[in-house]
Amino acid sequence: MTGKYSTFKNIQKQIDKCAKILGLDGATLALLKEPIRTLIVNMPVKMDDGTVRIFTGFRVQYNDALGPTKGGIRWHPDENLDAIKALAALMTWKCALLNLPYGGGKGGVICDPKKLSASEKERLARAYVRALAGFLGPLKDIPAPDVYTDPQVMTWMMDEFSVITGYNVPEVITGKLLVAGGSKGREDATARGGMFVLREAARFLELGLMVDESRLYMPPHVLSNIPDASPGDDVVNVAIQGYGNAGSLAHFLATRLFKNVRVVAVSDSKGGIFNEDGLPYSRVSRVKAETGSVVNYESSMKISSEEVLELPVDILIPAALENQITGKNASRIKAKLVLELANGPTTPEADDILHSKGIFVVPDFLANAGGVTVSYFEWVQNLSRYYWDYEEVYRRLDAKMTRAFWEVVEALKEFKDKNIDPRTAAYVVAVRRVVEAMKARGWV
Ligand code: NAD
Repeated sequence: MTGKYSTFKNIQKQIDKCAKILGLDGATLALLKEPIRTLIVNMPVKMDDGTVRIFTGFRVQYNDALGPTKGGIRWHPDENLDAIKALAALMTWKCALLNLPYGGGKGGVICDPKKLSASEKERLARAYVRALAGFLGPLKDIPAPDVYTDPQVMTWMMDEFSVITGYNVPEVITGKLLVAGGSKGREDATARGGMFVLREAARFLELGLMVDESRLYMPPHVLSNIPDASPGDDVVNVAIQGYGNAGSLAHFLATRLFKNVRVVAVSDSKGGIFNEDGLPYSRVSRVKAETGSVVNYESSMKISSEEVLELPVDILIPAALENQITGKNASRIKAKLVLELANGPTTPEADDILHSKGIFVVPDFLANAGGVTVSYFEWVQNLSRYYWDYEEVYRRLDAKMTRAFWEVVEALKEFKDKNIDPRTAAYVVAVRRVVEAMKARGWV
């Protein structure tokens, strides 16, 4: 994995910056800058052709001062410990910012899932749990899906852990299939959480975004019967980079939960499309599903993915890759608000430029925290063996996201004299919470 998170050092620099603002002592800072536990495992897995392959896996439990560690498991050929450490650190801040009773963790296996059969994937998932069984647990470390792992993989992992334990333990892993103890609302949790934060940020910046209150907590299958909004003169224009899970659901939800949103540009790895009259979700998503790319949607102008970022829109939603807004193009960004659904789309250099231009960036570990928040709800439901309906899940998600957003605004005000940007303010809220827990427990 390349990009921002390949350099754990970048994360450490952010912590240093935060430590200065909060006046942290040396021991506290040292503990925050390294994971408390790093595990490397080598797992023999029988392949379909009868051979045995050894897979290397990782699990990083970064900091558990606020509760058991929580974070996804990634399967990728370029997986590496440095990236996992960085992502585990980010999970720590994300959980703390959302005020979830969790620390942060992350795991990974070096493998190419595209070259594995379903049964090989199942054996790998079970091998990973066996290798780490002593370190995982509903009150120790609770994994979730991430890059190239999915609800089926989580369900196999839960089953293996339950076999080892001797009884059903759905609360050991989140993001499971619904029938195996998954939560309603998990499928669009990241984008839905992003929309709740978007609503608050637009309110803060007075962008005139009009919310359809009656639809806010409607399940996706009900919303899908509703056409895109048809805004009048008070339109709020949106551009979205990336049209995978996060980006396409952002298109879907933004044009249904808000009355005056017009998505004028979207892109995927093949390029971008633009139409000033708006891109209808139902048609663009069908073209994407049928042809593999949004660029084949005819009623639009073809533009590059980079151009999508620089359009004169009100809101820009990067939902693809890391390092997309950089020192090179940040000065050309025209949006008033950037909602980082992707992890790490903005480089530190670009952050400074956007901040000096007065562009408000909702940082990744706030904007895309809906996924882990609904994971938390899944764990709570598993522990109580009582399951919620969609409305309950979304209502609670809204409350968590909204509260976190306004805590960041409070931190911006508190450190106004230091002229910090929203990302640093979010770090301050999160790191301060972790530090308070470490101090209360007598660690530092
Ligand atoms: P995905 O693989 O489903 O989609 C990625 C999309 O980005 C694809 O449409 C791909 O074509 C597009 N893309 C790739 N290169 C591009 C380029 N150069 N320009 C424009 N588009 C490009 O992934 P996803 O799950 O939607 O995740 C996207 C981002 O959101 C990642 O950074 C991920 O870490 C973050 N995120 C996702 C979730 C989630 O629940 N899905 C949760 C938290 C964070």
